[in-house]
Amino acid sequence: MTFRRLAEYLQRLEETPLRNKMTQILSELFGEAKNREIGKICYLLLGRLAPLYQTIEFGLGERMIIRAIADGLYKEAATVTKKFKKSGDLGITVEQIKNISGFNKGKALSLNDVYEALMTIAIASGTGSQEQKIKKLGELIQEVDSLSARYIVRIPIGKLRLGFSDMTILDSLSFLINGTKKHRPVIERAYNLRADIGFIASVVKGEGIEKLEGIQPQVGTPILMARAERMSSSKEIIDKIGKGAIEAKYDGFRIQAHLKRNKKKGSNEFIKLYSRNLEDVTLMYPDIVEGLKQQIKADEAIIEGEAVAYNPNTGEYLPFQETVQRKRKYDIEAKAKEIPLKLFVFELLFKNRKSYINDWYEIRKKELKKTVGRGETILFAPEEVTDNPKRLEEIFQDAVSRGLEGVMAKKLDGVYRAGARDFSWIKFKRSYAGKLTDTIDAVVMGYDFGQGKRAGFGIGDFLIGVYDNQSDMFLTIAKIGTGLTDEEWRAIKVRSDKLKVNGKPLNYEVDKIMDCDIWIAPEIVVEIRADEITRSPVHTAGRIMGPSKSGSAIEVKEAGLALRFPRLEKFRDDKTPTDATTLKELKEMLKKQKKL
Ligand code: ATP
Repeated sequence: MTFRRLAEYLQRLEETPLRNKMTQILSELFGEAKNREIGKICYLLLGRLAPLYQTIEFGLGERMIIRAIADGLYKEAATVTKKFKKSGDLGITVEQIKNISGFNKGKALSLNDVYEALMTIAIASGTGSQEQKIKKLGELIQEVDSLSARYIVRIPIGKLRLGFSDMTILDSLSFLINGTKKHRPVIERAYNLRADIGFIASVVKGEGIEKLEGIQPQVGTPILMARAERMSSSKEIIDKIGKGAIEAKYDGFRIQAHLKRNKKKGSNEFIKLYSRNLEDVTLMYPDIVEGLKQQIKADEAIIEGEAVAYNPNTGEYLPFQETVQRKRKYDIEAKAKEIPLKLFVFELLFKNRKSYINDWYEIRKKELKKTVGRGETILFAPEEVTDNPKRLEEIFQDAVSRGLEGVMAKKLDGVYRAGARDFSWIKFKRSYAGKLTDTIDAVVMGYDFGQGKRAGFGIGDFLIGVYDNQSDMFLTIAKIGTGLTDEEWRAIKVRSDKLKVNGKPLNYEVDKIMDCDIWIAPEIVVEIRADEITRSPVHTAGRIMGPSKSGSAIEVKEAGLALRFPRLEKFRDDKTPTDATTLKELKEMLKKQKKL
């Protein structure tokens, strides 16, 4: 396939606000692609060159892209900048310049050629690499037609936002098979075990859906992490799971560790650490890597745990605010000495070519204990098995009095539900004054300029929403204008400005009254505490619209869900936007809300 052909599909996708239509266009594209192209297409559709867990950074900012356009099309950088200021989009800018200056036709480069060129640009490093990157991108821009150039420049700056996530791609792969969403559960199950969309797509296309059914985890490809359901009383929990293993709920960050030892003497070990949102964080935590090397007794293993910082002088575990300081790209070694980490492990998912995903928790934990040797860094989350609500309550109160968030209750015969929130794990957290016992992870969708005191910050409020995994859309739940510190306002403004987009993204459903001065791409996840979930006609989460009695207008039939007294708890950089609280969860939280 030529890259031009892909660009035509991208244009059609960009012009389609309808989800079903997008799914259809994507399946048409997948049908036309060759087996060896479909994987790359999936990455490109998500504005990437590789799966999420492989860090490939272009290292090219807007200013350098402007230079590449100027060099490639023999223009002054100032001319390009002027046009860019007008259109606000470098893709449109390069397309316009190519069209006017007669460079619009270009060569019919293959998709593979363009992919390889982009890869070369991305991986260039070392002295002089910036110049090489600009030169190579300039040449590419010069060679291709104007529509292709529109999309090529959007990829390095992360602005190929087509308004869908990997979830829509999974639907389209099912469509590719027989024009329905029927195969989505099998495809999604495989994706949960091997979170590489390109790999999954190439199996569907090249080998067929049957092949996916037998897919097993593999060291080096992260497994989408299992999540916990919430409950607020020990009786309810025991009624639900019967006998459970009760563990402390540590407030650090989740790590999935992959390890492979080569039996040949002296050969290197493969160790990777993935965060909750599947980012490769191996380099950030050398102390954990070392601990795993020393303590894991297996040739291959995938294990999970919660990393928590501690004070080496007092031996005390530190709160999240301290632990999070370890998430950094510089001064790693020094910080590791100052704030060392312990990894409390609680899951064994794979060991020596055997998957434990479908084994009971009891069995996984037993095998985990055999797999981790003694040491200082990798520790077990202590557990107590009980089916007595009174005892569970005592363990919970004890955890709270030690400053922990609460406990996790794990069903002894529960399997590991990759990528799913399930009652095999139940979080039981200390409750707060409001009716709502848990926080909500929401996506920042846009903001308004401020008035009064905050006019100086340039942000007066920001709009947040939840994720609807059925429609792959973000739906609003609140506009937050108070309750942040000055520092938090500044932080949210700086982060938002990096993600500004022209116009409301296609995957946002927002009532006109909630329109924002500035729209931002869905990337920032914030943890929000609120007193209560209420109903509001101006928020779109769960809102139902329908024709008015006279049939002449569309009106609100059922008000949406909104938050009362929302306030920012923290930024959740370990979550992707599709990890935000879902509409379904919000509806369940509404049902479980305490009656005060
Ligand atoms: P999620 O979406 O995973 O539920 P969350 O951070 O919003 O994420 P939490 O309320 O923090 O939900 O509870 C789940 C998280 O708790 C896990 O992802 C893990 O990082 C952490 N955790 C701490 N201790 C444990 C434990 N013993 N077993 C499992 N998870 C634990």
